[in-house]
Amino acid sequence: MRIIDHHIAGSAGSSTRTGPTSEARTGDVFDPNTGQIQATVKLGDQAVLDAAVAAAQKAQPAWAATNPQRRARVMFNFKALVEKNMDELAHLLSSEHGKVIADSKGDIQRGLEVIEFACGIPHVLKGEYTQGAGPGIDVYSMRQPLGIGAGITPFNFPAMIPLWMSGIALATGNAFILKPSERDPSVPVRLGELFREAGLPEGIFQVVHGDKEMVDAILDHPGIAAVSFVGSSDIAHYVYSRGVAAGKRVQAMGGAKNHGIVMPDADLDQVVADLSGAAFGSAGERCMALPVVVPVGEKTAIALREKLIPAIHALRVGVSTDKDAHYGPVVNAAHKQRIENWIQTGVDEGAELVVDGRGFELQGHEKGFFIGPSLFDHVTTDMSAYKEEIFGPVLQIVRADDFEHALRLPSEHQYGNGVAIFTRNGHAAREFAARVNVGMVGINVPIPVPVAYHSFGGWKRSAFGDTNQHGMEGVRFWTKVKTVTQRWPDGGVGDAANAFVIPTMG
Ligand code: NAD
Repeated sequence: MRIIDHHIAGSAGSSTRTGPTSEARTGDVFDPNTGQIQATVKLGDQAVLDAAVAAAQKAQPAWAATNPQRRARVMFNFKALVEKNMDELAHLLSSEHGKVIADSKGDIQRGLEVIEFACGIPHVLKGEYTQGAGPGIDVYSMRQPLGIGAGITPFNFPAMIPLWMSGIALATGNAFILKPSERDPSVPVRLGELFREAGLPEGIFQVVHGDKEMVDAILDHPGIAAVSFVGSSDIAHYVYSRGVAAGKRVQAMGGAKNHGIVMPDADLDQVVADLSGAAFGSAGERCMALPVVVPVGEKTAIALREKLIPAIHALRVGVSTDKDAHYGPVVNAAHKQRIENWIQTGVDEGAELVVDGRGFELQGHEKGFFIGPSLFDHVTTDMSAYKEEIFGPVLQIVRADDFEHALRLPSEHQYGNGVAIFTRNGHAAREFAARVNVGMVGINVPIPVPVAYHSFGGWKRSAFGDTNQHGMEGVRFWTKVKTVTQRWPDGGVGDAANAFVIPTMG
């Protein structure tokens, strides 16, 4: 059995090897296409984390003192290396996650775009300067790294999300310890190896595997200054509270239930094409998936439903390497069961199950974690299947009477990650974008994931903390501002009487 080891400084040999493991606790890593266990991941403890923190403490001061263009050069090298190894990385990612290869390449590419942003870090890190803020006094500010930061990431984007965090954390001069999802831990380890190959000093990017035990160790560790978390909301809230209580800077992104509003003037063929990908792509395992569609008015609802049904029946579910498959299996058997339970709950609560994806079997892969696409109509806001995140290939139609009703639905939902409106009416779109109580808005764009030089972050229970991922928000999270007020006296002694009054620069 292949063993997936931590990637920490000083550990001999490759991070992936074959043979017995001495780690007390381990986890199974499945191939979702076959349902078979394909590897064992070590689940680390306090001692593993202590070793990683000690190595980071040793290496970080020199990295922080390295001038920013040299740090940027490592990012340039890393980008080239990831591109060179794209096929291998995408296959590895798909084999543990289950998403189709093209989608895995997208996962890696979206992460690389943050690295591209980080290549410009010398420009971004420039501080502010005021000459003559007072008599003979200048004021300037600088952004300095926090020291050691940690990232705790979910299974659904094992390349993009670690790179959202680490790209900025590293380029700004921090050491970074990644605790990836224990369900698909191999790509994060490969990223660590490629960072080393790119010239990143040992101990600056490390990977520790684990579950709650490791997460708690990170949250409590006095050597770690900041934690960036992405995952489900209850755990995000837990991580936020415990990390802040320990005096750390924490940002914690949570779950989602994104709505797509379809106005009566929308191009329905385009909407159906967009919705199919946004609701079912990656088997719905995206925090920016669109699992709720809100047609405005009865006529829109009837027409949309009529077009959606055949489009959903035409979806092809297949193994990750099937070039014609629209989506692959979900991540593991427990998650498949959870999705099927939610479908049953929806039925029990009185929604109409128009297309039932349960019981789907892929010929030759009967043990794989496949699930067909499902469509619900007449879903209402009191149903728990509407309130909660399903995170699977399930689309729910919630019918709205008019624009104001449609606007209220995502605005009043507990999650506020993303939302989209489909319309040809610029005024309606503008009103919607201004008034909706959600963090990321798409106008005729179904998955409005901001580009790397803007920032990613939801509202309400989709994010705890006050800075977003990547872009300038990421730079703010991973640095602290120091402000210097300087005076170079010309030799004369100042007015001693005034030394006891708060300086006003007057
Ligand atoms: P998860 O919350 O189960 O796991 C996330 C991380 O937390 C993992 O590293 C895991 O090991 C750790 N963890 C799990 N249980 C824990 C516990 N009890 N205590 C401490 N740590 C624990 O999430 P997941 O299933 O891996 O990912 C899917 C979720 O992530 C969905 O809710 C999805 O919406 C969300 N997500 C959000 C965003 C965003 O940016 N808002 C992006 C991607 C995914």
